[in-house]
Amino acid sequence: MKHIEGAEKIRQEFPDILHDESSFESGVPESVYFPETADDLRTALSAASAKGMKVTFVGGRTGTTGGAVPEEGNCAITFSAMNRIRKVEHLDGRPVLVCDPGVTLEEVGRFLQSPAAWPYKVCGSESLGNEGFFYPPDPTEATAQLGGTVATNASGARSYLFGPSRRHIAFLELMFANGDTAVVRRSADNNTPWNRKVITESGSQILVPPLPYTSPGIKNASGYYNSPDMEAVDLFIGSEGTLAAITGIGIFLHPKVRIVSGLSFFGCDKGAFDFADFLRNENSVAAIEFFDGGSLSFIDRYRNRMSGSFPEFPVDSKAAILWEYIENGLGNFENEMEKWEEALLDCGSSFDSTWSGFEDSENKRLHNFRHALPETINGIIAQNKRSCAGIRKIGTDSAFPAGRFRNCYKEMMRLINKSNLTFAAFGHLGDYHIHINLIPYSADELSKALGLYDELMSLAISNGGTVSAEHGIGKIKKKYLAAMYGEEGIAAMRAVKSSLDPQGMLNPGNLF
Ligand SMILES: Cc1cc2nc3c(=O)[nH]c(=O)nc-3n(C[C@H](O)[C@H](O)[C@H](O)COP(=O)(O)OP(=O)(O)OC[C@H]3O[C@@H](n4cnc5c(N)ncnc54)[C@H](O)[C@@H]3O)c2cc1C
Repeated sequence: MKHIEGAEKIRQEFPDILHDESSFESGVPESVYFPETADDLRTALSAASAKGMKVTFVGGRTGTTGGAVPEEGNCAITFSAMNRIRKVEHLDGRPVLVCDPGVTLEEVGRFLQSPAAWPYKVCGSESLGNEGFFYPPDPTEATAQLGGTVATNASGARSYLFGPSRRHIAFLELMFANGDTAVVRRSADNNTPWNRKVITESGSQILVPPLPYTSPGIKNASGYYNSPDMEAVDLFIGSEGTLAAITGIGIFLHPKVRIVSGLSFFGCDKGAFDFADFLRNENSVAAIEFFDGGSLSFIDRYRNRMSGSFPEFPVDSKAAILWEYIENGLGNFENEMEKWEEALLDCGSSFDSTWSGFEDSENKRLHNFRHALPETINGIIAQNKRSCAGIRKIGTDSAFPAGRFRNCYKEMMRLINKSNLTFAAFGHLGDYHIHINLIPYSADELSKALGLYDELMSLAISNGGTVSAEHGIGKIKKKYLAAMYGEEGIAAMRAVKSSLDPQGMLNPGNLF
């Protein structure tokens, strides 16, 4: 197994490991391991433990909360070399793709396009055919690894219809800090409440203490999951690497669907929100993504830096919705167009003010458009950071209960406009989950943005919203997790961690 020792060598040979997409850094580790197998991983954990080092797990580093950022003087274990697509199994008639944790979403997508053309034989893949199946979680950034997406319970645009990663996991293979392993599976009937025991492959039974809260019924990636009908596998999904390493993943594959999409432009937020209400009552809608006026101006301003070219927006566009519709043969989009045109007109838009994504190439262009915005903002932040070291993007990730969303959005806009900070609001309107991206250009603006962020989090918590709906807490949102669950909730989460990681060795500084 490849292994780099010594902070200076790590800084020189692998500087990328010092940060993720949040631009947050926490020092230089003393050791980095690149396991290729579970046995290598056990060796790395044991070596770190012998030196009294804590360990940070590193996936594709697309995370936005510093979760994969290692700590000064400690150890990092990166999963990039545990990257085999292993086999296809069938569970209850559903195909399950079994992968190493370092397989990226891009690789899963490419494999499913043409399994027979994969560089090595994947047992059972002949049953899939070409482009017969897909894996729904799509957190925009396809370089994310399966392990990282499971650790953060990643979502994305289509989670509006298909749900977050949690819904698509058949089983997880886990390795605990002491090298012991366990496999936790989603049961077929989900009828038996979990007895809160994890049974390891060496025969140990770990009793996991209860949590005093039920996870909110809205989109959520804040803290350990807890619900009356959960199974052991649910605890590890979204646990941000604090309980165990994910060493293998079985993902449910879904029959490929044909998607028709469009980007409809509106004169104001209200028109876009009204159209989203219409879409929520329609069948077969897979995604309802929002872009505010700030996002559109941002795209206009930085058009030349974006990957992919886009036409000019219709005049007076102040908001837009990117929608996706699944054509399944029964629900043919052409049959819906008249009703949709009427709804668009009622909301101040029309099909004339819509870029269509009816062909695959057009669909891809709209997908690129969605991806280009956060990527460009992250690029601007990196540039601002060069002139002012501490600068980072301050981005909200709150989802709200449906009935509170519009008032909360109005209040968020009031607070943000008062601050005079540059911002762009976009994201998953279908789930009442819009990311507010505050873009500081100076130390002064950074401190203003952090103060404003506190106010936005208080607003979310006091209205039954979440502090993270999909990115997780990592190292930079801990105080908000504490505000959301209170001291009792955090103490109970710590007890859960102690039961599975008694030395507190895994992913120090994440969550609490
Ligand atoms: C442009 C852009 C857009 C994005 N849009 C979305 C979006 O729409 N929806 C969304 O949900 N996310 C989004 N993200 C966030 C990001 O893609 C996810 O958080 C992703 O799921 C993290 O995967 P990763 O492999 O990069 O993990 P990393 O960032 O490397 O790590 C994330 C966490 O997982 C832990 N981890 C990684 N691998 C393992 C493992 N094998 N075992 C245990 N713990 C592990 C790490 O320690 C860390 O705590 C976006 C990111 C970018 C850059």
